[in-house]
Amino acid sequence: MCGAPRLSDAGKKAVLMGWVNRRRDLGNLVFIDVRDRTGVTQVVFNKERNPALHQKAGELRNEYVIAVIGKLRQRVPDTVNKNIPTGEVELIAEELRILNEAKQPPFLPGDTVLPNEEMRLRYRYIDLRRDAMQQNIELRHKVSLAIRTYLASQGFFEIETPFMTRSTPEGARDYLVPSRVQPGCFYALPQSPQLFKQILMISGFDKYFQIVRCFRDEDLRADRQPEFTQIDLEMSYPQPERVWEVVEGFLTAAFKADGHEIKTPFPRMSYDEAIRLYGSDKPDLRLPAMTDVREAFTAEELEEFASKFRVRKELPIQLIRIPKAGDISGTERRAIGTYGAFQHVQRPSFVQLMSDAKRFTKDYPPLAERVVQFAKVEPDDLWLLAGALSRPEAAVVMEQGLQHFCERCGLLRVDLAQKYAAKHGAFVKTRDPERDFRFVWVTDFPMFEWDDAEKRWNPAHHPFTSLHEDDMAKLEASIDSVRDPKSQLGEIRALAYDVILNGTELGSGSIRIHRQDIQRKIFHALGMTEEEARSRFGFFLEALEYGTPPHGGIALGLDRIVMILAGAESLREVIPFPKTARAADLMVDAPTPVSEAQLKELGISVKK
Ligand code: ASP
Repeated sequence: MCGAPRLSDAGKKAVLMGWVNRRRDLGNLVFIDVRDRTGVTQVVFNKERNPALHQKAGELRNEYVIAVIGKLRQRVPDTVNKNIPTGEVELIAEELRILNEAKQPPFLPGDTVLPNEEMRLRYRYIDLRRDAMQQNIELRHKVSLAIRTYLASQGFFEIETPFMTRSTPEGARDYLVPSRVQPGCFYALPQSPQLFKQILMISGFDKYFQIVRCFRDEDLRADRQPEFTQIDLEMSYPQPERVWEVVEGFLTAAFKADGHEIKTPFPRMSYDEAIRLYGSDKPDLRLPAMTDVREAFTAEELEEFASKFRVRKELPIQLIRIPKAGDISGTERRAIGTYGAFQHVQRPSFVQLMSDAKRFTKDYPPLAERVVQFAKVEPDDLWLLAGALSRPEAAVVMEQGLQHFCERCGLLRVDLAQKYAAKHGAFVKTRDPERDFRFVWVTDFPMFEWDDAEKRWNPAHHPFTSLHEDDMAKLEASIDSVRDPKSQLGEIRALAYDVILNGTELGSGSIRIHRQDIQRKIFHALGMTEEEARSRFGFFLEALEYGTPPHGGIALGLDRIVMILAGAESLREVIPFPKTARAADLMVDAPTPVSEAQLKELGISVKK
């Protein structure tokens, strides 16, 4: 391979095949760097030694595919290239074959300035020749392989499930495939193998996994793809801890494949705790949590503070702290709350910010001292206080109270962290896995979440998620309240969990409902009639009746894991043939219209 020759190979005969990476013509000497995925070796064509061959080398252009036979030789000291592993040797060409010519490509794999992404995606085969892409794809391979090997060693079988199936409810739109044989009928591409993996548990394959493509027709954000890959798994009889152990095991193997020793078990945090401390169900532990500092106040101080700053004293007064970002100007301090998540509203309309800590310290010296101590603020930290506005116009928003308020604070925390990233440096990789990769399990999610647009409760995870045994009575009591925002449905906890890394969700899962009567109740609570439930999930409800073991599982996004390991900014950097934000494949030019004949066969007519 082109990256293999070393000094110890000098004197050996070698055959190299690859692309012309670079050509330098010095008259009597022509130098060609020949490249394959392992690297480049310099090849020398010498006019005096072999005029015909030297002349042939003159025909070579970038990205021609060649084979060269020759002898490896130690380079003279001042031509050694210390930047590449093959830099101490060169191949003296004896024979050259041009295996294929190449048109001048729109950009070269070795270019230091990248073309725009459209160009890269249109000519993806050239883009993939670049070192960075070759490394990302290799990393992806290594990570998948490590995960497969680990799970197999734990007794899991990889089992395939169909792509042409029927709608599964992960909350996105389905991609549909029309049936020719049954005109008017459609398959749906799976949003996940959820029901199939549960059925595999009913079928006796008590440990299943699959590295599997999932399809979701969603409005794409920067970090989404219409088809993406999950590490999907399910097991019979587990407690949640058992599922977490398996995930920690395969993540350890995956990170090790890239040279990082991560520490397990990951810390755990309830959903409520995550919201209170981080204002998010995806807490980024690389920066300190928020602190409710009310305890540092005396009762009178709290009273005075609440009335002076017009905040509600029954809700937290959150101290948000960004380490080492302290020395910012007064103007900058006062501008906090006008950017990031807040920029559209100019100020967080129901969060009252006290962002000028200097002023506060001056106005309330003993109190400020106690607050700072209570929240363990260091001298060069940037900090501010956030309270829930007590004005009547804020009352509507505050109906959901604590959670809503904390989430706004959490957004501000993340905005600040990003804005001052250069100062705190907490996002910079240190090669210390314990600092670079902050994992956490978030547990005890709510079972249902209120959808304000549709004015109804929806499953927070999916409708096959088991609820906390203790909350069964609440389900019974609120079974007919899917459209009531004040329903107790909002208080029911699920046996659901997410695994988070550095503030990004890697995956979610749950213990499932294994009893048909409870599954029916959940469908009922979600406002589905018996009829609807039967027509959508009848096959599944039926399967549940034939001896279903308790089971649970999880699915993690493979693309995202590889992206984080690669230090890439976008999922497109780790997917060989990704789609654009408009869900298009620019290389093959998909989607496209199809012929009238095809449509006719499918019994479909397209509205112009
Ligand atoms: N199927 C779920 C999802 O794709 C994961 C799970 O519950 O296992 O989010």
